[in-house]
Amino acid sequence: MRVAVAGILHESNTFATFPTGRAQFEHNWTTGAEMLRRWSDTHHELTGFLQGSAEAGFDVLPLLAATATPGGVVTADVYEALLGQLLVRLELSAPLDGMLLSLHGAMVSEEFPDGDGEIVRRVRELLGPDIPLVLTLDFHTNLSQKMVDHTTATLIYRTNPHIDQRPRGLKAARLLKRIIAGEVQPVQALAKPPMVWNILHQNTSAEPLRSILADAAALEDSEGMLAVSLAAGYPYADVEEMGPAVVVVSDGDPARARKEADRLSERMWNARDQLAIHLPDSAEAVRRACASDQTPVVIVEMGDNIGGGSPGDSTAILSELVRQGAPRAVSVIYDPAAAAQVIAAGVGATVDLEVGGKTDRMHGDPVRIQGVVKSIHDGKFHEPEPRHGGQTDWDQGPTAIVEIANGTLGVLDSRRTAPMSLHQITSLGIKPEEMQILVVKAAIAYRAAYEPIAGSIIEADTPGVSAVNPARFEYRHRRRPLWPLDGE
Ligand SMILES: [Zn+2]
Repeated sequence: MRVAVAGILHESNTFATFPTGRAQFEHNWTTGAEMLRRWSDTHHELTGFLQGSAEAGFDVLPLLAATATPGGVVTADVYEALLGQLLVRLELSAPLDGMLLSLHGAMVSEEFPDGDGEIVRRVRELLGPDIPLVLTLDFHTNLSQKMVDHTTATLIYRTNPHIDQRPRGLKAARLLKRIIAGEVQPVQALAKPPMVWNILHQNTSAEPLRSILADAAALEDSEGMLAVSLAAGYPYADVEEMGPAVVVVSDGDPARARKEADRLSERMWNARDQLAIHLPDSAEAVRRACASDQTPVVIVEMGDNIGGGSPGDSTAILSELVRQGAPRAVSVIYDPAAAAQVIAAGVGATVDLEVGGKTDRMHGDPVRIQGVVKSIHDGKFHEPEPRHGGQTDWDQGPTAIVEIANGTLGVLDSRRTAPMSLHQITSLGIKPEEMQILVVKAAIAYRAAYEPIAGSIIEADTPGVSAVNPARFEYRHRRRPLWPLDGE
C-alpha cells in the first residue's frame, strides 16, 4: 500500500503586524528522507503517522513537512511555495492507495482566509475522488466545511495543552489502513456552534471542556463510530470560519454522524454561562504575585501568547515587575537587538538599556532595565517529555540574562519561543522552584510544562494581539451572529 505523508502547519494571527514568511518556516521545512529523520521520534502527529504506517506495512512516500511558530498571516509567496512543492511531490508519488495529511486548521495566507481548506481542495483535485485522504488538525482549528468536504476522515487532537498529537496521528494511520482495506466507509458531519470560545476556557483538563470531551471520547469508542473530535477554535483569526467546531466520522451512517455532531455542538453552546472572563490587569496580577506565599507564582501574560501568534516582546508585566520592584521574578522577552547588546557587554558587565515593546504599539513601550549581565547562552535546549506541540529540540537563539533589582531576572532571547518547555529556563541555570514569580507569555499550552512546579497561577488580562477578551478586537470577516460578540 503506497501512502503519501505530508504536513503544513501554521496558526495565523490576523491581528499581528508581522507576516510569516520563508525565514519563519525555514528552520522546520523538510522533504523526503530528511523529513523521515526529522519526524521519526517526536510527540507530533507526523511521528504518529510514521509509526502507524510502519505498523500497517505502508510504503511511505514522504512529501513535505513544514511548520512555523504561530505569527502573522502567511505570505502568498511562501504559501504557494509550500503547497506547490507538496503537489509536485504528490504527483510524482502516483499511484497511491491513500494519504495522511497534518494541517493546523487555522492558517491564513495573504490570498486565502481558509488556507487549509485551499490545501485540501488542491490535494483532492490531484488525488481524484476515490483515494482516501485522512486529515489531522490542531484543537485550535477554525474548521471549515471545505476541509471536511475534500477529506475522507478528519481527526483533531483532544487535548490542550496538546499532548496527544502522536496518538491522534497513530489513530489516523490505523483508520486509513481500514479504509484502504475496505473494512469501513467513513461519512463525516460538521457542526459549528455560533459562538466564540475564549482562550481562557480552552483548557481540556478543566470544565466545561473536560466533560464534553469525555462524551466525545466515549462516542468515538462506540460501535459504528470511527472518529469524534471537537475544536475550541482560534479567536485571533478574523475569518468566516472562526470559532469552535465538532466533526463526527461514522461508519456509513450519515444520519447518526449528523445527529451526534449537532448534539455535541449543542453541548458546547449550552456551556456559555461557564465561559466568563474576570481577570486582574497587569498591576494587580504583579501585586498579588509579590504578596503570595504559594510560590513560584506563574503569571500568565495572556495578551502576549507567543503560541497564539503574539510577538513575545510585550512589556505589560515586565514594566510592573520593574515599577513594583518585584523580588526574584523571571520574565523572558524576545528582543534580538537587546540580547546582542548584552552579549557584547559580557558576563559581569553593568548594563542599562531599553528592552521589549519593539514589534508594534500594541504590546507596551520599551522598558528601561539596569543590572548586571549574569550569563550568556546559545539558547538551544531539549525537551524529552510530551509537551504542547510535540517538539523535542528547541532553539531560542543567543540568550542573555540580566539581573535587575531584588534578584529579578530579565531573560533576553533572539527567537520567538513559546513557553512549552521548562527547559527553556532551566537550561539557562534558572531554578524555577527558588523564584517568587515566573512570567509566561501564554494562555493554556504552558500548563503541561509549568503546572507540575507552579505554587499558584495568576492569569492576567493584558493587551495585545492575543488578548483574552474577544470583544477587544475589531472583526470584519467573521460570520454573524456569534455569541458573546453579538449577544444571544
Ligand atoms: Zn493549538
